[in-house]
Amino acid sequence: MTYLRTGVCHTGEGSLSNVLIGVENGRIASVRPAGDPFPADFGSIRDMPASPADFGSARDMPASPADFAGASPRPAGGVIDLSGLTVLPGFIDIHFHGGNGYDVMQGTYEAINGLSLHKLAEGVTSFCPATMTDTPENIRRALSGVRGALERGTDGARIIGAFIEGPYISREFRGAHTERLLRPDFTAREVEELIDFGAGAVASVALAPELPNALETIAALRRRGVNVRLGHTAATFAEAKAGIAAGGNVAIHTYNAMSPLNHREPGMVGAVMTEPGIYAELICDFIHVHPAAAAILLKMKGPDKVILVTDCISAGGLGDGEYNLGGEPVTVAGGVVRNSEGRLAGSTLSVITAVRNVCETLNAPLADAARMASANPAKALGIYDRTGSISEGKTADIIAIDGEYNVRFVMVGGEVKIMRG
Ligand SMILES: [Zn+2]
Repeated sequence: MTYLRTGVCHTGEGSLSNVLIGVENGRIASVRPAGDPFPADFGSIRDMPASPADFGSARDMPASPADFAGASPRPAGGVIDLSGLTVLPGFIDIHFHGGNGYDVMQGTYEAINGLSLHKLAEGVTSFCPATMTDTPENIRRALSGVRGALERGTDGARIIGAFIEGPYISREFRGAHTERLLRPDFTAREVEELIDFGAGAVASVALAPELPNALETIAALRRRGVNVRLGHTAATFAEAKAGIAAGGNVAIHTYNAMSPLNHREPGMVGAVMTEPGIYAELICDFIHVHPAAAAILLKMKGPDKVILVTDCISAGGLGDGEYNLGGEPVTVAGGVVRNSEGRLAGSTLSVITAVRNVCETLNAPLADAARMASANPAKALGIYDRTGSISEGKTADIIAIDGEYNVRFVMVGGEVKIMRG
């Protein structure tokens, strides 16, 4: 058993302080108070040990609190001291295309594994690599890369499954997706064939609900357990609501590339704001969305329905310059990514920066921002029974950050991946 000793710990379900998280066989075995005196607000912990002897591996525990002195995380006889940091569930980025020079469309194990390592530094412990609109062959190649990485396993963050972002989207709201390769006249059968090809590698598909066969396709995907997201859409309010009723439960990059809220035709944005069931992705870099618009979204949806995503491209973690996104050239200037038409084409955002932006600019509590980056995406994708909070029985996906939002500790499935003193 390894123990993580925490100071402040936002578990995703509540906020605790001074707890010991027991990790065994990759799972969270216990979440218990670290010792006397217990804070009065430990209401949610019902199975407090009567004495230290109740801890099975008591010999792993330090002899005295003095052994925990200092803020540096360090292993000490099976105990890692994170008490000077804030402990959170590992972040889950369900929408990004690349980083550190890698692009999901490269379709190689090296690219996906490289991304899994790159994402650790921003606190990500699991992720959905996203494809771009491309030829059927190239999308299949990307899926093969994801499938291979799922089979072989990755060295960093864990893959949930691929997110197919195009080509089943609106021409008018295509954003940076290549117009000539869009498939607005797709059929359910065509999309299902892609799912079959992926053989379990596809977690999620985006489509525009107003397209001719969209509702039937949403229903078919949901029957197969594939998550459906709505976006890159010109949907009217009624069409958007129909897509949500059919089973689309996430709006991709809310406000961006979707029919805006007009007071007589509230569009996709209006449906996202008024339909309680749909989660709202937000690219919170204040480039894609004005802080006031982000604040309105947060107010309308509440902290349990917003999902922080990065939509990051291969330039993430690197400097300004020329890159490409799914084969199309893009330019990064001042961290802002645009294609040759001048359209925003993804971001260079990291999840920890999005969390910081939500806290510092939108004035949300860190516990709320952390849920937007962890519990909410896990719930939206139906994996909250396994990850997305620090709870007994779940996979040990745990991070710790300091007061400057530096990620200092990352554990994926019980393995320590980053520990910075
Ligand atoms: Zn997009």
